[in-house]
Amino acid sequence: MNTFDAIVVGSGISGGWAAKELCEKGLKTLVLERGRNVDHIKDYPTAMKDPWEFSHRGKITRQYKEENPLISKAAGFGEDTAHFFIKDADHPYVQERPFDWIRGYQVGGKSLIWGRATQRWSQSEFESPAKYGYGIEWPIQYNDIAPWYSHVEKFIGICGNKDGIEAMPDGEFLPPFDFNCVEQYMSDKIKSLYPNRHVVQGRWAQLSKASQVQIDQGRSDCQGRNLCMRGCPYGGYFSSNASTLPWAKKTGNLTLRPHSVVHSVIYDEQTGKAKGVKVIDAETHKEEIFYAKIIFLNASALNTNLILLNSTSHRFPNGLGNDHDILGRYICFHNYRASANARIEGFQDKYVYGNNPTEAILANFRNLYQKDMDFVGGYTTFTGAYRTRKTGTENGPQIGADYKEALTELGDWHIYMYMQGETIPKASNRVFLSKDQKDAWGIPLLVTDVGYDENDEMMVKDFLEQSKEMLEKIGCVDYESRDSHQAPGLDIHEMGGVRMGKNPKTSMLNKNNQLHNCLNVYVTDGACMTSTGNQSPSILYMALTARAVAHAVDEFKKGKW
Ligand SMILES: Cc1cc2nc3c(=O)[nH]c(=O)nc-3n(C[C@H](O)[C@H](O)[C@H](O)COP(=O)(O)OP(=O)(O)OC[C@H]3O[C@@H](n4cnc5c(N)ncnc54)[C@H](O)[C@@H]3O)c2cc1C
Ligand code: SF4
Repeated sequence: MNTFDAIVVGSGISGGWAAKELCEKGLKTLVLERGRNVDHIKDYPTAMKDPWEFSHRGKITRQYKEENPLISKAAGFGEDTAHFFIKDADHPYVQERPFDWIRGYQVGGKSLIWGRATQRWSQSEFESPAKYGYGIEWPIQYNDIAPWYSHVEKFIGICGNKDGIEAMPDGEFLPPFDFNCVEQYMSDKIKSLYPNRHVVQGRWAQLSKASQVQIDQGRSDCQGRNLCMRGCPYGGYFSSNASTLPWAKKTGNLTLRPHSVVHSVIYDEQTGKAKGVKVIDAETHKEEIFYAKIIFLNASALNTNLILLNSTSHRFPNGLGNDHDILGRYICFHNYRASANARIEGFQDKYVYGNNPTEAILANFRNLYQKDMDFVGGYTTFTGAYRTRKTGTENGPQIGADYKEALTELGDWHIYMYMQGETIPKASNRVFLSKDQKDAWGIPLLVTDVGYDENDEMMVKDFLEQSKEMLEKIGCVDYESRDSHQAPGLDIHEMGGVRMGKNPKTSMLNKNNQLHNCLNVYVTDGACMTSTGNQSPSILYMALTARAVAHAVDEFKKGKW
């Protein structure tokens, strides 16, 4: 009863993909998920609510904030989405240096609440870390992963335009969401002033026009409501719940077990392989063992680190596969600290129709194919234009009949920009297990010891200078900028700790995402990342997962395991 062909730990973005691919290829697959079940549509309690149907108009109460100071900082967190995030007190960890670890523990993981930006990595992002000496060589390059990007894009549905730019390769796109008039102006104007800077329509996991395979998943066109993080009854954006998990279930090969906290992977000293995983039932706290020939770890980057660090044996006293103290090190993230905003005059006779759930993207223009800055790495800039109401201004009426009246009138257009910067993977940025503190399931707490460096400071400075210059040159006024100095983690793109590489002495995983030292364990979530690039990472995790499953199933069918 407890034996399967494959076990997948975690049912979020990458785990959902592992489950789909394994089940489609005929393997009896167990997905272990620590959180509760979330059924598509049925378990989206706020999806169709209007603002006045919420007790606090969608806002979080002061008491909730005081009780949850960490998670209530997350982007998109509100009264309408709180049920898809953890509560701080339930899931403690130790911050050696400040690190905001944002989590969503349920079937579907953070796929329910992600922002859905899905650009491909460029070849430059794969090769720059080794070339410019701020990382090790990736064991794969863009051409190795490109067909798998296509495989994922076609299935989940990515909208976007084929823009033909080096920094952000084109994919298999559904039609893009339109720019609004100011975004179109900004794109044209920036292009005319800076030939190498491209403001393009967002590449987003959003069904602008569903294709047959998405209709077969039971999904339909996005309605442009921009309420995605509540869960979408139309399946208009990609989540495991709307897409990969029901698809896997249809094969008859999936067993999904919620409330199953994976404690560790069990290593078989005789065979030199993993034979299963130990689970603590989240509700009863009873221990159970599950066995399989293939194990995929997709518990999200830091949880996968935790599970491996906690998987000790005679052969691996410091965590599974960890012969050289690499496990838990080279944790990296995206630098999201800086943002800018400015007002643009004109366009007073123009407005928008509907809500655009995507954002425009200014593709990276720094250190592309040659190092041209005093810092390493590049940054993607998310941007967009919006029109305020008269009440949106500081001097406008704030209360009463005047306020209501002002609501009916439109204000000015504004443009915002914010950065998503590459960071340097460093051995000193690491996670490890607490020696004396445990969680409610008897698992050691994770300690985070991660921080910014000088390179991050220089990149923030460059973003602030460049955003000011660009916005002013295209005719904006009232420029404002902000360096939030937020702790790492709030970017929600934590990566590394179990990095891929060519050399088993400096990396944990080989080019197929197998642990060098325990080949039937695959890690394909953010923990596997050798470096961060500057693109949103999740679609790369999906592509790496599909690629790794193809390898695992090949080996399985050859009888290797
Ligand atoms: C507000 C927000 C906006 C974001 N925007 C974007 C974006 O625009 N683009 C982008 O690329 N990324 C974005 N991200 C990041 C994205 O959500 C993650 O990169 C992605 O979900 C990672 O996938 P995963 O499968 O590794 O982890 P998750 O989706 O988090 O899934 C991991 C699952 O494992 C389960 N789990 C954890 N530990 C255990 C255990 N011990 N035993 C059993 N199960 C366990 C968890 O409960 C969870 O369900 C955003 C995230 C947030 C929160
Ligand atoms: S914008 Fe689209 S995907 Fe988001 S909630 Fe609305 S219909 Fe669903």
